[in-house]
Amino acid sequence: MTDTRALAARVSELSKQLERASFEYYVLDRPTLTDAEYDRLFRELQDIERAHPSLRAPDSPTLRIGAPPQSSLPRHTHAFPMLSLGNAFTDEELREWEARLVRIAGDDVRTAGYCAELKIDGAAVSLIYEGGILVAGATRGNGVVGEDVTPNIRTVRDVPLRLTGSSLPARVEIRGEIYYPFDLFERMNEELVKQGERVFANPRNAASGSLRLLDSSITRQRPLRFFGYSIVAANDVDLALARQSDVLDRLEAWGVPVAPHRRRCRSLDEAIAWAHALELQVRGTLNFAIDGGVLKVDSLALQEELGVVGGREPRWAIARKFAPDIAETTLLDIRVNVGRTGALNPYAVLDPVEIGGTTVTYATLHNEDLILRKDLRIGDLVQVKRAGEVIPQVIGPIPDRRTGMERRWTMPRKCPVCGTPVVRDEDTVAAFCPNVSCPGRQLEGLVHFASRGAMDIRGLSYARIEQLVTAGLIHDVADLYALREDQLKHLERFAEKSAQALVDAIAASKVQPLSRLLFGLGIRHVGATAAEVLAREFGSMRALMEASTESIGAVRGIGDIIAHSVAAYFGEPSARELIRRLHDAGVTMTEPEPVKSDGALKGKTVVITGTLPTLSRPEAAELVERNGGRVTDSVSRKTSFVLAGDAAGSKLEKARQLGIEVIDEAELYRRIGREA
Ligand code: NAD
Repeated sequence: MTDTRALAARVSELSKQLERASFEYYVLDRPTLTDAEYDRLFRELQDIERAHPSLRAPDSPTLRIGAPPQSSLPRHTHAFPMLSLGNAFTDEELREWEARLVRIAGDDVRTAGYCAELKIDGAAVSLIYEGGILVAGATRGNGVVGEDVTPNIRTVRDVPLRLTGSSLPARVEIRGEIYYPFDLFERMNEELVKQGERVFANPRNAASGSLRLLDSSITRQRPLRFFGYSIVAANDVDLALARQSDVLDRLEAWGVPVAPHRRRCRSLDEAIAWAHALELQVRGTLNFAIDGGVLKVDSLALQEELGVVGGREPRWAIARKFAPDIAETTLLDIRVNVGRTGALNPYAVLDPVEIGGTTVTYATLHNEDLILRKDLRIGDLVQVKRAGEVIPQVIGPIPDRRTGMERRWTMPRKCPVCGTPVVRDEDTVAAFCPNVSCPGRQLEGLVHFASRGAMDIRGLSYARIEQLVTAGLIHDVADLYALREDQLKHLERFAEKSAQALVDAIAASKVQPLSRLLFGLGIRHVGATAAEVLAREFGSMRALMEASTESIGAVRGIGDIIAHSVAAYFGEPSARELIRRLHDAGVTMTEPEPVKSDGALKGKTVVITGTLPTLSRPEAAELVERNGGRVTDSVSRKTSFVLAGDAAGSKLEKARQLGIEVIDEAELYRRIGREA
């Protein structure tokens, strides 16, 4: 009796923990448990419920999928439920799974073979196509009702807006996973840290969070990607598909990306060997997160016969999950980096530890808040996670293992590089160094100033800037405009010609409009878009510098955080002095009226595809639009030309079929009268 009562209490405790974790994971996209911890609790609850079915509540987390939608996005009711997957953590569990299938459907299961696929760790979506045209996209939600994210889905570059091929079904749903590539994820998080904003814990949360944004123009800036893995259609639609492997082939034929490394396995042994190779050899080579492999009974007829377990997961599929990429080690120290906007970014110095084949010595701690929230202390034994190629992260301390010798950490009161008293951002409470000439932010700041999206100074590479800083020739961005050819030509790797070319390129940047300059200054929270809005609104540096926080905040598209940051920046004497020097050097301090409709690309409809050599997609789109052109997503007869880079796929093919002109980035520059 007491036993049952104790078990019932445990069931209720586990249910509560799992529910909270699901809310944080699915709704907030900010988990506090690791997936392995979640899976362990889930498994414990499942085991108790199996042994004591009377303890299983009708709304137990083990019977539910995801979480009901809670955002203000419109709801989408799925025509066919979107399910979860059962898990196997060992080969033994896979064999037990096969034995269960054989008990239900007989020995045919063993001979039908398995389709083995990557388990993409992203956000599940259902894409609805009518007559081959994408008409809607929705998240999984609780499996029955998800969120309608159609405008955001349309921004995902490899979701086809139109399926290729003939005799497309009248209505079909394509299910798959939206994911965030590792390299770009890392870049976005670095950017968020620099802007003093909260980072995403991992690419999955970034994918899900970006997909569920209310503003699709922000989603468009996030390089989300997609892999499809299933086709769902009403019973009376005959797609002439016999196996899951055919489904994947069909998806590819329709122009839908399918994850690599899939394999049709003749037996479970072969599938097990595939899963081992996946974990040990393939996983580390991928630029996206996977949390295991999925094995599916290949025959669709057998799948139909095997059906669904508990309304939650298909019986015919199972996820073989990986061992987590987590290790324990000692936190030796917490140090602080100064970013280009002056943000002070704490990082962990660890007792070197091997995780997934790499030695990890440093890990990001993102911001002070995170350290305090996790109560991390120097000397703590900590859990460190290295998810794929992402910067290692400290998950948290193991407080039970404390010896009493651990020390609490506080953010230094003075900038560790220049000694200026640290300032706190009113809105984000993040600490930063307000000294715009702080050498800590100098190098990154100069690189940003010279970058293509800012003052666009050709030839001023990272290495060059480093060289000029080391030689003591420049300290801040205004120094660039005082550089002379005779100072440069004595430096290593500077011939007379390149010295002159650099001085000329720097001088040429003086004509860049105010928006570029504002972005280039690296004011906290002021990205390219905010810089442009501010420049257009105020017209001149002087007007902006004299504006009050309220009048800046009143500008459409500029929130309080940006307004405070801009006002605080211009309130700093060092910033005002820097602007004065830039002005005296002849740098433009005004914004011209937009020239849009009269640009070189006036009346042109342009489609951008593939990876361009230097421009990101939003940059290329901006360039086209600034020059009067219009950017659209799909190629049609109305397309004037396609701007194509590397790995351009179906759009390029379509352009060729329709005989539409295809140009490269260099040609785009030529057409708008700029050099590449
Ligand atoms: P799941 O992620 O384990 O598996 C189901 C999902 O896998 C499907 O919905 C689909 O989106 C995806 N998938 C990826 N590749 C696939 C493929 N090739 N074929 C079919 N499906 C594929 O299950 P779930 O129900 O989404 O979530 C449970 C998991 O989520 C847990 O095991 C845990 O890892 C994680 N989770 C973590 C927390 C946390 O706090 N950390 C909370 C809740 C859930």
